[in-house]
Amino acid sequence: MKIAIFSDVHANLAALQAVQNDIDRVGVSARLCLGDSVGYGADPRACLDLLLQSCDVLLAGNHDLAAAGRLSLDRFSGLARHAVDYARALLTEPQRKRLAEMHDEEWWGDLLLVHASPADPAEFPYVRDAEAARAQFDARQFRAAFYGHTHLPLAFEDDGERVGLTARPRLELKAGMRYLCNVGSVGQPRDQDPRACWALYDSDARTVAFRRVAYDIEATTARIKEAGLPEALAARLLVGV
Ligand code: ZN
Repeated sequence: MKIAIFSDVHANLAALQAVQNDIDRVGVSARLCLGDSVGYGADPRACLDLLLQSCDVLLAGNHDLAAAGRLSLDRFSGLARHAVDYARALLTEPQRKRLAEMHDEEWWGDLLLVHASPADPAEFPYVRDAEAARAQFDARQFRAAFYGHTHLPLAFEDDGERVGLTARPRLELKAGMRYLCNVGSVGQPRDQDPRACWALYDSDARTVAFRRVAYDIEATTARIKEAGLPEALAARLLVGV
């Protein structure tokens, strides 16, 4: 079975549509989205509607919960706050309600899905290095977990003794090993590749392939400026940081 796993759409409609088209071309049995559907971008309402219609799992990220009024803005940067306020004002009441009801983790068969961290899904810490990954493996039982939040596609492997990091575009999940895979970001990649990112998981071959999809970034930055959002949110999309 082929499964599309992606995260951090961040109200970037052009990127989401490009990824959905790529997923359609590949053909999958399920679409799993790990949260942060809104925030940063200009189109929170359209993105959330499209995700609610098309995803088999849609988790809540920190931006979603903040837009729904369930998470304080204290820990958000000025830029992120601005974008959360924008999303909050634009979303419909039913949409805010849906966001407020979403979970921060779910199991899909034997896959653990979270927005930020298996160990502490409601606290949204950043798992970027092997030391942080070690704590995740130690805290929970799982063979493979998928997460987003850092916007950096990569995977950690735990062979029982040490945790290794890999950023290979294709990964084989070996028997006896445990995996923590970050699926990157659809709408705001931060690994210096501005193309949208999603992960294709094949449950028979036990492989994860990171796919990159070009989309109309110029049109997206124009939308962000038109919406009156901070210019920096547009500029970063061009360089993928
Ligand atoms: Zn995010």
